[in-house]
Amino acid sequence: MKVITLHEGRERSLLRRHPWVFESSIAGGKADSGETVRVQAHDGRFLAWAAYSPASMIRLRAWSFVETERIDAAFFARRIAAAIAARDALAIDSDGARLIHGEADGLPGLVVDRYGDTLCAQITSAAAERWRGVIATELLKASGATRLYERSDASVRGLEGLAPRTGWIIGEGDTQITIREHGWRLHVDLATGHKTGFYLDQRDNRRIFAETVRQFGFKRVLNCFCYTGGFSVAALAGGATEVTSVDSSAPALALADAHVALNGFDPAHHRTLDADVNRTLREMIDRGERFDAIVLDPPKFAPSAAHAERAARAYKDINRLAFGLLRPGGALFTFSCSGGVSADLFHKIVAGAGIDAGIDAAILHRLQEPADHPCTLLFPEGQYLKGLALLVR
Ligand code: SAH
Repeated sequence: MKVITLHEGRERSLLRRHPWVFESSIAGGKADSGETVRVQAHDGRFLAWAAYSPASMIRLRAWSFVETERIDAAFFARRIAAAIAARDALAIDSDGARLIHGEADGLPGLVVDRYGDTLCAQITSAAAERWRGVIATELLKASGATRLYERSDASVRGLEGLAPRTGWIIGEGDTQITIREHGWRLHVDLATGHKTGFYLDQRDNRRIFAETVRQFGFKRVLNCFCYTGGFSVAALAGGATEVTSVDSSAPALALADAHVALNGFDPAHHRTLDADVNRTLREMIDRGERFDAIVLDPPKFAPSAAHAERAARAYKDINRLAFGLLRPGGALFTFSCSGGVSADLFHKIVAGAGIDAGIDAAILHRLQEPADHPCTLLFPEGQYLKGLALLVR
């Protein structure tokens, strides 16, 4: 077993059971990509079993802080079974759920989503890559799923020296799947969809949006950055009759339209706009349009804290424009999925947009990712989705 020794004082994060060690903390030792190593403090004290990643700034990702634990197939079987049991306990109102959420499930760099009897995995660390075969076998065993597709094509793989890889690991067949969420039917394409196919992280927020539309009797709804129209389906389910879905991806919009038909809604109640959101909002303001409810769910403007300032301006712009399009009493569901923008900062940005737009708003809900995308006490970096459901005054 290879040993990695840390500089004096750099053991602190592992002692707090945070799973990452950066390159600058390492005093000595080397290993192959993904190889399990013993990590020790400068004085030889055991700190963790970890995976080594020679290409990455995050040089070590801890598997275990227990000296007697062995990192072997049985270890992965235990971690995977525990993660899946935790999801079973949630009784999620969908057959789409996140089964493994990386560090929060003690499996750094591994994300696995379930869509019915099919799993979709994304491997983004040398750590998980090394155990790919074992992980695949244990996933099927523990979940009872029959097929496993891989979407390891996220750009962060490059930081770990890993090439992209996609395709079936176990099983084969059509990559198009229909799932049921809150009684709605939704298409997912494993091969061409974003991330692992679908934004499962907005599941609870889509339900809350549908309930809000119904509760307030909202009819005119604008869904910006709609992707395949999850929030548009929610709006129609809540009783909206004039829903506009905006996105710059034509294939996503085609699926949004398909979802209206698939769920038995009147196609006359929905229209799609293949356009840039910022421009569309400005044009709608110029035309004097008004909406009862608006959803803003943009892509990640700030991948890290270093991008936060530019991202803040972009978030503020679209939120200010959205406020300008809402009638008094209308609702804005506004989100950021940027890890680099904290919930606090996001609140400040949206408040700044409110000041510029000359409105105040009551906070109906503070939103985040659901419990199958857990955020843990010891790994706060895991929290990325934040949202505000606002009622404009
Ligand atoms: N709300 C969606 C997920 C949104 S993902 C859901 O619940 O499923 C972000 C979407 O923004 C993507 O579909 C992407 O195509 C779109 N997008 C990114 N930049 C855009 C822009 N400038 N104008 C319009 N759409 C944009």
